[in-house]
Amino acid sequence: APPTEPRWSADTANVDEFPEVGKLEQLLGTIADTGAAFPYFRVHEGTIRDTTVIGGRPYLSFGSYNYLGLSGHPAVNEAVHRAVDRYGTSVSASRVLSGERDLTVRLERALTEFLGVGDCLTLVSGHATNVTAIGHLVGPGDLVLHDALSHDSILQGCALSGAARRPFAHNDAEQLEHLLRLNRSRFRRVLIAVEGAYSMDGDLVDLPAVIELKKRYGALLMVDEAHSIGTVGERGRGVGEFFGVARSDVDLWMGTLSKAFASCGGYLGGSVRMVRWLRHTLPGFVYSVGLTPPNAAAALAATELMVAEPHRVGALRRNSELFLGLARAAGLATGSSAHTPIVPCILGDSARTLRVADGLYARGVIADPIFHPAVEEGLSRLRFFVTGEHREEDIRRAVAVLAEEVASAAAR
Ligand code: PMP
Repeated sequence: APPTEPRWSADTANVDEFPEVGKLEQLLGTIADTGAAFPYFRVHEGTIRDTTVIGGRPYLSFGSYNYLGLSGHPAVNEAVHRAVDRYGTSVSASRVLSGERDLTVRLERALTEFLGVGDCLTLVSGHATNVTAIGHLVGPGDLVLHDALSHDSILQGCALSGAARRPFAHNDAEQLEHLLRLNRSRFRRVLIAVEGAYSMDGDLVDLPAVIELKKRYGALLMVDEAHSIGTVGERGRGVGEFFGVARSDVDLWMGTLSKAFASCGGYLGGSVRMVRWLRHTLPGFVYSVGLTPPNAAAALAATELMVAEPHRVGALRRNSELFLGLARAAGLATGSSAHTPIVPCILGDSARTLRVADGLYARGVIADPIFHPAVEEGLSRLRFFVTGEHREEDIRRAVAVLAEEVASAAAR
């Protein structure tokens, strides 16, 4: 037999020498060569609400998910202090064993009511919630159909589940229909995974169309409300409220506690029977520690504030509409953004995006530059997260500075 090439060499046994590690080093070098300030891992010196402080200097921030300004709210902080005094900082076990606390039970009751579902379960991470939930619902012989712009946690969940997966073009119900027609009979379970609000484009799912298809083809539907819960709908109850659909039309309502809820973690909401099954069997819940007391207390206090002070959602909506309207009037490419606090400014080229981000930063405004692979090649963008705390003059200034920086980057 001819000699075969060995399958391994020294670099396969040393992570430092992996080609993908070399690729990152090269990319970091390229960014450094542009002379722009490095736009990631910036160290903030306090709570990021409408403003933040970096290196002792104040910045107007459009770079955090603190949509309702509840992270840093005195009532939330106070609830966390009380929780730490009473329960300490960890529950030190899976909730199945000795990790259950009345605080978390109260949080889940409040969330259940807020979401309008039968029951709900909280987990320590939003990302891990998607990974474990998808892996638990489907497996080999099943299919996941997901929006092409789905978050990494949904893609990881699909990959680890062993189910087949097919993306459909962003918000394209016709293509979803086509895939269902083609594939439904070939698979046992079919799960449709969508997001309430898409974090790169700032648009909403066409939920009524997806619900109609899931019913027609006998599929399951999961909606990730990471960015839509607390921010979308008259009272912030998400896309279910926005579109006026029955909560039971969606099998699994998923969301995170890290954004509007001013905490850290994920939740899964749905029927009483399904959530009981998840509570007793979901690997990422059963084999992981329960939510920490400070995180549970923060999310509970935030939920109570969202119920007691619905005007916060109104302020967020007004600010979002103001930002989007001004950006459109200034001729900026905001894509399909609508009805969400997320406004992209699509610039195409990554070097240009980095220059504009740097120009804004030098003038005291923060917005995240987003490149491939987070978005498609050629669709690099700056992304603005509006909050309910921004003042009108700050929004006007930010859009004016943005328009100037975009124009000056184009002229260079
Ligand atoms: N789903 C979506 C749509 C997200 O955008 C994110 C994070 N931004 C997550 C899940 C993960 O949530 P977390 O950051 O709370 O882990």
